[in-house]
Parts: sequence; C-alpha cells; structure tokens
Amino acid sequence: MGCPGAGKGTQSAKLQEEFHLKHISTGDVLRAEIASGSELGKEIAGIINKGNLVPDELMISMLENIVKSTTKGIIFDGFPRTVAQAEALDAMMQRLQRDITEVIMIDLPESEVVSRIASRRQCRKCGEILHVTPGTEAKACPVCGGELYTRPDDTEERVKHRLEVYHTDTLPVKNYYQNSGKYVEIKGDQTPEKVFEDIVSVLKKVK
Ligand code: AMP
Repeated sequence: MGCPGAGKGTQSAKLQEEFHLKHISTGDVLRAEIASGSELGKEIAGIINKGNLVPDELMISMLENIVKSTTKGIIFDGFPRTVAQAEALDAMMQRLQRDITEVIMIDLPESEVVSRIASRRQCRKCGEILHVTPGTEAKACPVCGGELYTRPDDTEERVKHRLEVYHTDTLPVKNYYQNSGKYVEIKGDQTPEKVFEDIVSVLKKVK
C-alpha cells in the first residue's frame, strides 16, 4: 500500500525478482486492458485518466482470474484500495486457501508526491518505471529500448485529485489492517535501495 508515487511499483518489481513472486499491479492490469483497445478498456480509460478508482466489482472480478492462474506467492501492488476490496480479498483468499502474509505501507510525506510524480516516466513495452531529472529527458527505456511516456493521470491536477481519493477511499484500508498483526509501515522518503532493504528485513522476520 501507499499513496500515488510512494514507490509501490518500483519496490514490487524488485521483490518479484528477489523472491520469485508473482507481481500483480492492478494499475498495470487496467492499463493493459486499455492498450488492448477493447470497449471495457475505453470505459476504464475514462475513469483512470480522471484519477478516479474503477468500480470494486470490476476490479475484483478482473483480479480473481489472475490470482487463480498462479500458485506462486503474490505481491498485490495497488490493491486493495477500498475497504470493500479488502473484504473481497479476504473472502477470495479463503476460497482459494491462501493467506495474506503481510501488509506493507510505504509511507511518503505528501509534500513529496507531486514533485516525485512529475519526474516519473514509464516504459510502454516492459513497464519499467524511472525518474528523470530536468534537462536529461530520456526517450528510450534503459532496460528494453521501448518508448517512455508520462502517464495521463500523472499531471499535477490529476495527482492532487488522486491524493484526495486516496484519503477518502484508501486510507480506511489502513485501519482495516492495522490491528491484524500483519500491518507494517516503511518510510518512503529514503533511497529506493534503503526502502527495499527495510521491506526485505520485514519479510525475513515473517518467514
Ligand atoms: P497505479 O498504477 O497503482 O497508480 O493505478 C493507476 C490507476 O488505476 C488508479 O489511479 C486507479 O484509477 C486505477 N486503479 C489501480 N488499482 C485500482 C484498484 N485496486 N481499484 C480501483 N482502481 C484502481
């Protein structure tokens, strides 16, 4: 968990590699549906590009098929984002005889969010996320050479709206998990390497 720009995608990609997990980013799942050009994708684009959340039922039904398709451990990145999704996830995990191991909140001060997202670029091909410094704009992904783009929901106005949505809909999820004994907060305003180190040390204790 974490607000927009907290580093969920970056850290999940590193964790997937280190622990051989399946990384499910609901944002990437939705962006893939948009890229497919389907009618559903067009509907989803209208919602995401405004910085709103897609309806819970749609998100949950899209996710269940992906969860069923793997026996690996899973990192959910950007899910659950509402209490209804957290409840549905509990029910799904029970049905599939799986457990939630740990809920990790990457805590980033909001004063950092807008500037961090303004420098964010993503690769259309492999999904790599990177941050550019002004004047050194890269055109191609350093990993696969794919085209780098700025997400349409990463404009300052949209990011401010996404933060409001985060407060209203997603922060209650923190309360949902806080007393479960599985909830931990990691400081997000550190280098990506240090954030990763902190997450790994939490996960090693869980094992
Ligand atoms: P992300 O890539 O996690 O920043 O997500 C980008 C956008 O996709 C969000 O601002 C939402 O519009 C949508 N989205 C991603 N995950 C969810 C979710 N769990 N529930 C509803 N909408 C989501």
